[in-house]
Amino acid sequence: MSVQSYIDKVMKSTMQSTPGQTEFYQAVEEVLGTLEPILLAEPKYDNYNILERIVIPERQILFRVVWMDDAGKIQTNIGYRVQFNSAIGPYKGGLRFHPSVNLGIIKFLGFEQIFKNSLTGLSIGGGKGGSNFDPKGKSDGEIMRFCQSFMIELSKHIGETRDVPAGDIGVGGREIGYMFGEYKRLTGNFEGILTGKGVNWGGSLTRTEATGFGSVYFAENVLNKQDDSLKGKIATVSGSGNVAIYTIQKLYDMGATPVTCSDSRGMIYDKNGIDLDSLKLIKEINRQSIDEYCLIHKHATYLPVHSYPEGTNAVWAVPCDVAFPSATQNELNLEDIKNLHKNGCKLVCEGANMPSTPEAIDYMQANGIMYAPGKAANAGGVATSQLEMSQNASMQKWTFAEVDDKLRSIMKSIFDLSYDTSKEFEDEGNLMKGANIAGFRKVADSMIDQGAV
Ligand code: GLU
Repeated sequence: MSVQSYIDKVMKSTMQSTPGQTEFYQAVEEVLGTLEPILLAEPKYDNYNILERIVIPERQILFRVVWMDDAGKIQTNIGYRVQFNSAIGPYKGGLRFHPSVNLGIIKFLGFEQIFKNSLTGLSIGGGKGGSNFDPKGKSDGEIMRFCQSFMIELSKHIGETRDVPAGDIGVGGREIGYMFGEYKRLTGNFEGILTGKGVNWGGSLTRTEATGFGSVYFAENVLNKQDDSLKGKIATVSGSGNVAIYTIQKLYDMGATPVTCSDSRGMIYDKNGIDLDSLKLIKEINRQSIDEYCLIHKHATYLPVHSYPEGTNAVWAVPCDVAFPSATQNELNLEDIKNLHKNGCKLVCEGANMPSTPEAIDYMQANGIMYAPGKAANAGGVATSQLEMSQNASMQKWTFAEVDDKLRSIMKSIFDLSYDTSKEFEDEGNLMKGANIAGFRKVADSMIDQGAV
């Protein structure tokens, strides 16, 4: 059988056996579609049925989460933990709380996480979890009761050497705190079973900043390879969560000007550069909508989502040199990339997971726009989670600068590995192919070493 028909066969059986998981198919197709050269060079992956095995999670857990709202009414949500692949280490990956969450979304995220975690060079397998719970508009007490109920079930499946969840969309320091507290109450053990913990109780300095900082370090590596840098560049950023905020912060450190940010309701354009203190106040402290920004900065523009030109994201219509999609999946489509191209954008660096649609990626590759895929570019978050696990296991505490230095060198090594692998497979500079193949090779070889499991 040809390599292409092997890939097609696996794709087809995935779609037949797991109907309706659109985002998962997209993630699988993107990875498998780049593996042809390594499958041709190494028939062992076919011989050992690696593709058939790697697209099926080792285990997926689905559970009912029941909690009481402030009015005394019983509410119900669905909880998930997909333990995708433990070939190179314990399952590691975040928890997402968002109304859009379903099994297909968690599986796409878990699948991506396998290769992302492999690229970091650290011993972490891939997993992901979450719930269709919507934290928006909930009181602190409601969030706490939900997190406690979620952990009552999750606690049965996690452990320091088994599965170590963390945050993702809708899960930050507050939620990690409530879940950690509940785990401790249930088991009586103070253990590093979650990352993204508070710095007073086992968390690592720089973890909060790590995904955003890492994404900017990655972009700097990409540009340096072209004898260029971020200095003096105009950047557009989407999102206003943890990834976007610390992308914006690090862009300033590197001499760039980030001019946009957004949330689910709209976007802000500030030609002077987004004011970081205002953004942190609105999003991290007050948990408000981003339109509050214009009350403080009268010259800035706010555009609500309903007024975006049909089928586009207004963030990507703002002229820029570099774009950092840092909100969510499929937030940058073909129309958006055409807008970016028209306005001279040179690089798209993904802080979010799978933010660019396949058509947008094809367009970038056909038109010479540099593309830094999320698996590589946003791996700084999970890499720093592993640094948190290391500190917990050795009972050490590293300084902010120590962790930041390690993060910076991990991002450089992820870039080098992706770049060198693209060169090895005769497509120099195709970081998507390089990242996918390099991430895959380490996991697949480990699966072969460990036998028929
Ligand atoms: N949710 C983050 C990601 O997409 C972080 C996961 C972690 O720290 O385990 O990689």
